[in-house]
Amino acid sequence: MWRGPCINAGHFVVRSAERRSSLWTMKLKDQVAIVTGGASGIGAASARLFAAEGAKVALVDLDEVGLGQVAAEIDSKGGQALTIAADVSSDPQARAGVAQVMEKWGRIDVLLTAAGASTGGTVDTIEEAAWDRTFAINVKGTYLWIHYAIAPMIAAGSGAIVTIGSQLAQSSPGKNAAYIASKGAIASFTKTMAVDHAAQGIRVNALMPGVIDTPMPARSLKRYADPEAMRTFWKHRHPMGRIGQPEEVAKAALFLASDDSSFVTGTLLFVDGGWTAH
Ligand code: NAP
Repeated sequence: MWRGPCINAGHFVVRSAERRSSLWTMKLKDQVAIVTGGASGIGAASARLFAAEGAKVALVDLDEVGLGQVAAEIDSKGGQALTIAADVSSDPQARAGVAQVMEKWGRIDVLLTAAGASTGGTVDTIEEAAWDRTFAINVKGTYLWIHYAIAPMIAAGSGAIVTIGSQLAQSSPGKNAAYIASKGAIASFTKTMAVDHAAQGIRVNALMPGVIDTPMPARSLKRYADPEAMRTFWKHRHPMGRIGQPEEVAKAALFLASDDSSFVTGTLLFVDGGWTAH
């Protein structure tokens, strides 16, 4: 007996139910998210996931080509993306970027500060310019975007801010002193902002990733005499025996950005394959 129509009808019912259920369960439906560092790595993966979960996403980065690519991917899947080519360490650019998002979409629900840079070196070798650049991007850039984006959140009485520290702030094999100090600053900064703004309905949490397969560690590997040996060391330094993927960090970012973490603030969420567990 030919059962094609029945199978098709059943399939249609299942697909319709899936679609309805995905519309009902979108975690950031109609929300507006800003993602700094949105052109690459963890920021790009998070921006894609936020958009898939219903958010309009403003992507901020220095890398204009990457910005265009991520925005085009989001657009092609029916999402909405705005690109803002900016240096996160510039006060006027941060102020203008936040104003641009407010002008276009009128609200900011989520801010993920993923722009970052790693310089390498030990305290005796790091030059002042490299130290300043690391702190300008990683710490000042985080401060500036939160400084401007939190004002509409305070006015609205709600918001979720997700910063990015690093597992290295807690447990480091060394040789990246400025970067690690900057990530320690992010951890402390995140906690004190969580305390300062909890009563205003704003949650502030940090992601603390392990080594994640993005251009950043690929660039860092070039600093070592034997990059392959260092990559293998990194891999096995995680008890899970591997390096993480940006999509795995993005899922944790979504948790902290959405109501799934409604009673979570001031947390450092390690997404590090167990790196800091030993
Ligand atoms: P990534 O792929 O290199 O992405 C970082 C993005 O930030 C890049 O597109 C970079 O642009 C951009 N950026 C750098 N400086 C900027 C500035 N001044 N203004 C605007 N954008 C700027 O690195 P990732 O691994 O996704 O890193 C994301 C965050 O996770 C960073 O804060 C990093 O420290 C943190 N993290 C990463 C790892 C890891 O293993 N990947 C581990 C722990 C923590 P350009 O490429 O043009 O510089």
